[in-house]
Amino acid sequence: MREIAVSGVRPTGKQHLGNYLGAVVNFVRMQEEYDGYFFIADLHSLTTHPRAADLQANVRQTLIEYLACGLDPDKCTLFVQSHVPQISELYLIFNMFAYDGELHKVPTFKDKVRTQPDNVNAGLLTYPVLMAVDILIHHAMKVPVGKDQMQHIEMTRNFGNRFNHTYGVEYFKEPIGFNYGDAPLSVPSLDGEGKMSKSKGENTVIYLMDEPDAIRKKIMKAPSDSGPKEPGQPKTEAVQNLFDLMKLVSKPDVIAHYDQAYHDCAIRYGDMKKQIAEDMTVFLTPIRERIREISADQAYLTRVMEEGGEKARASAQKTVTEVREIIGLKSR
Ligand code: AMP
Repeated sequence: MREIAVSGVRPTGKQHLGNYLGAVVNFVRMQEEYDGYFFIADLHSLTTHPRAADLQANVRQTLIEYLACGLDPDKCTLFVQSHVPQISELYLIFNMFAYDGELHKVPTFKDKVRTQPDNVNAGLLTYPVLMAVDILIHHAMKVPVGKDQMQHIEMTRNFGNRFNHTYGVEYFKEPIGFNYGDAPLSVPSLDGEGKMSKSKGENTVIYLMDEPDAIRKKIMKAPSDSGPKEPGQPKTEAVQNLFDLMKLVSKPDVIAHYDQAYHDCAIRYGDMKKQIAEDMTVFLTPIRERIREISADQAYLTRVMEEGGEKARASAQKTVTEVREIIGLKSR
């Protein structure tokens, strides 16, 4: 039997390079070796995007982009989180195993308190509980996520262990965060600071859908500095981010060339950015074309969602039934 993998992304509009390289490329490889449950986290998205207006369109867009990146519904279970009501039931139960103190300390929660101070809802606080349930409900052992969510996997292990301990069972196993690289990836933001994230503004992210012109404009605007004054000078965060972006899309000899130019204090950031934009365009063009093709077939998208939902509900129901038995809740 194959090991189980679970992960998802929130349907908050178009997916960006961070979601793709931090998570979805791993899903695509994992579907060959694992029993993969890959989903569209629409319930999670309500914590930051509560309006109904765009939700349906965003869910479809995310599905289209998953398929365009290479996820194959014949090889994995591809579903929408809210189509599996068992997740909501187990989420309620798991809130009993998460402590207020530990939830308040989570860096992603603290981040949101800062970025959306007028909507610090309890769903944001219990985001890691819902994520733990997404994972545990299918008994996943591997969870492909970007660096920003690694702590959530540790919390998942804690919640599962507390459940086991409370009821004297060995029911939930310990999942681990996973990716095919040496370390979890963090795709840098185009504003020169931290990770790529839509919450920092449209011009700080590269979308999978972006046309070459938009890619060039955004990358040319990324900050740099006045250049190194002596060989071996450490890079500023903005310049390190440019190098990190280049590493994601450019060939090794190109990267080596700019590394050397930096070392020799001969680097021209304008040229470097043009090169990144060109290589980024080559990298994203096939995905953009597939997005366009798949968008035309709405009936296919509906079928994929329905079939994936059915498979995910069957797996989730088995867990909920067993959990009810362990807890002593009568099944209806
Ligand atoms: P979200 O958009 O928060 O639902 O994230 C979906 C997935 O993309 C998660 O596995 C994140 O860890 C990953 N992700 C989002 N932004 C980045 C980034 N800038 N670098 C690496 N991974 C990311």
